[in-house]
Amino acid sequence: MDSTHKFNMLSEKPNGITANRPALEMTITWADGHTSLYPFSLLRAACPCAQCRGGHENMKAEPDADVFHFEFIDAPATRISTVKPTGSYALTIVWEDGHDYGIYNWHYLRALCPCPECRRGALQNGQ
Ligand SMILES: [Zn+2]
Ligand SMILES: [Zn+2]
Repeated sequence: MDSTHKFNMLSEKPNGITANRPALEMTITWADGHTSLYPFSLLRAACPCAQCRGGHENMKAEPDADVFHFEFIDAPATRISTVKPTGSYALTIVWEDGHDYGIYNWHYLRALCPCPECRRGALQNGQ
């Protein structure tokens, strides 16, 4: 089985994933050397499942620009309980309120990187 061609984009291949629960932040280091630091609340706001997006028709490959303006208080809904690998293309985040429908693929996570560099790039792409 040749699956390597699907993952040859270094910017969408994670080298390491750390969920820092005391800091409420998840860090992904990518194969191209970029590091993404996600506040848990951002990940929850961007949960890609049909329920959070308001129906299957609203599920997209890219995060909504709105999620970057969400403010969440510290609550079970914004605390990560576990992060589980899903195949070799994604991870599932289980939240302390029991929500576990969100499958975050690498492409989505990379597009969700909140750093100024990536946000600038997204704006230039007209998003
Ligand atoms: Zn969800
Ligand atoms: Zn970034």
